[in-house]
Amino acid sequence: MCGIIGYVGNKEAAPILIQGLKTLEYRGYDSAGLYVAEAGLMKAVGPIKELEAALAASGQSFVGHSGIAHTRWATHGESSEANAHPHSSGAIRLVHNGIIENYQELKEELLTSGHTFTSATDT
Ligand code: GLU
Repeated sequence: MCGIIGYVGNKEAAPILIQGLKTLEYRGYDSAGLYVAEAGLMKAVGPIKELEAALAASGQSFVGHSGIAHTRWATHGESSEANAHPHSSGAIRLVHNGIIENYQELKEELLTSGHTFTSATDT
């Protein structure tokens, strides 16, 4: 089972998102990721502390007032940074909980119309 948290407000989003992910840790996970709208995207395999370490090591401030974060329990595709959520397409950032049963059909349709995929997930 995964966990999803989003934040929009006047406070710094990253600490709130990280705390939210820690609160959801009990649900189980294999990787985690976070997107802060004004700052960027970071993902890491393993516990939330690995995501925190990656944020610290990035040298980026991750300052911003809105964002979304996810703990992943893989159902499709290995546990990896590429497969961790959030996923990106243009201006869109996407997190997903559960299984998209008809993902293969949808993916083939999108591939046919010229889209590319950078993850092996059903998301
Ligand atoms: N099926 C999605 C994946 O494998 C989401 C899994 C989840 O709920 O964490 O990435």
